[in-house]
This record gives sequence, structure tokens and C-alpha cells, in this order.
Amino acid sequence: MTEAPPRVLTIAGSDSGGGAGIQADLRTFFACGVHGCVALTAVTVQNSLGVTGVAEIPAETVAAQILSVAEDIGLQAAKTGMLASAAIIEAITPALDRVGIGRGGRTPFVVDPVSASMHGDQLLADSALDALRGLLFPRATLVTPNLDEVRLITGIAVEDRADQRVAAKALHALGPEWVLVKGGHMWDDPECLDLLYDGSEFIELPGPRYDTRHTHGSGDTLASSISSALAKGATVPEAVRFGKDFIVRSVAAAYPLGAGDGPVSPLW
Ligand code: PLP
Repeated sequence: MTEAPPRVLTIAGSDSGGGAGIQADLRTFFACGVHGCVALTAVTVQNSLGVTGVAEIPAETVAAQILSVAEDIGLQAAKTGMLASAAIIEAITPALDRVGIGRGGRTPFVVDPVSASMHGDQLLADSALDALRGLLFPRATLVTPNLDEVRLITGIAVEDRADQRVAAKALHALGPEWVLVKGGHMWDDPECLDLLYDGSEFIELPGPRYDTRHTHGSGDTLASSISSALAKGATVPEAVRFGKDFIVRSVAAAYPLGAGDGPVSPLW
């Protein structure tokens, strides 16, 4: 009999177009050689042009999915994606604590503070920002905001690399062990510089910028590849370097789909 690979949980929403959300997470987990489990938070009605509907899963059902898989299957890492509402964040917090996910527990926890799609469709209620900051950031091994999410969470509008450092410090003050401020949305920077910070040391992770509109699901793919490496025992800097290389290759392998924006692909 073959041994089970490491198990990683994604707490996230479904994208009916198959580009982002749990579909991107599960593709990435498979490509990284880990077994993916899902605590579904919401069903989005979505295609390459955007999101036209959202149905939330009851908060207690989201929490129950976490307990169910953690207590039987066992988890070596967990990540969040679309969390939809404050009620869901409030319901999952005690479940995370109970099964040891996050700081103080055994299981590394990557919080990707997904707030909107690249089309601007809202994926997290405004009223959920306080819960995200107050309940999930202090429990996170790593948070991975893009610059739009940095602005929502800290109020800092990052325009250059100096601002990026200021934002990393402000995010770290909210309690996560590590912060990765993604630079992909600093459009006039020829590089995509992601900045990793643990409260003392800055690690700069430069990468190429591709001229493509097909980047749907890139944040999910990055957070999932980092989580996979953590599940296999990598340190946070090792896992983030792995994830950076993984997302660069996945953007290079992105393909068009429908009339809008196509997804990045972990198959290269
Ligand atoms: N839809 C769902 C369900 C997601 O979880 C996400 C991102 O996490 C998106 C859409 C947005 O993806 P993008 O910003 O790459 O379009």
C-alpha cells in the first residue's frame, strides 16, 4: 500500500469557471504532490468575465468541515481564500484553535486575505475586515495580501518599494508570524517584487512581469503552493521561494478561456 501524502486544507470558495478559488487550490495541491481537503465557504457564479452571484455556505457548516477533516484525515497545513463574511470568520476561529491550526498550534496556517476578484467583484463583506484583522491575522503563520488588500487592511496605498516596507511593518504589527506583501499590482515596476518580512528581516523576492491578462487565480495558486511546501516541512522562507518559482511558471503557462481573463496553470 502507498503511504498518504501530506494533507493540506483550503478554506475557500468555488469558482464555477474553474480558474480561481478551490479549483485553483486543488489543481495546485495535486501538482505539488499533496492531498487537498476543502472547507467550502461560498459558491460563486463566475466565468472569465466576472462574478454574477454568490451563495454563502452556512457558517456552522464551514466550521464543521474543518473539524471533520482535521480530526479524521489529519492536516499538515491549512490556507484560506475567499471567506465571504464575518459570520464565517467568527465560526471558523474556534474550530481552528480546537484542531491546532495556526500560531500556537502544530499546523502552519496561511491567510490569503482575498477581498475582491481582479474584476473588482467583492468576495469579502466590508463588515468582515475587522474579523479578518482581529481573529485571523494573529493566528497566521503567513499572510499574503496583494496591494489592494494591503490598502483595505492597513489604509496604506503602496506606490513604491519604500511604501511596501512600511506596509509590511504595519501588517506584521497585526500579529502574523510572517508577512508577504505581493508586488504584482505595482504596475510601473518592471519586476514583480514580493517582500517577505518576519518583524526583523526583509527578504526580497524579485520575479519577471509577464504582459498577459490571463492571471486569474494567481493569488490562490501562490498561497496553495506555499502551503504545500509548508506541509512537506519547508521553513516559511523556503516555502515562499518555492511558491514564487511555482507562480512564475504558472503565469507563464496561463491560457485564454472564454471572452475575458484566463487562468494561470500549474501544468508546465
Ligand atoms: N473567485 C474565487 C472563488 C476566489 O477565491 C478568488 C480569489 O481568491 C477569485 C475569484 C479571484 O481571483 P482573481 O483575483 O485571480 O480573479
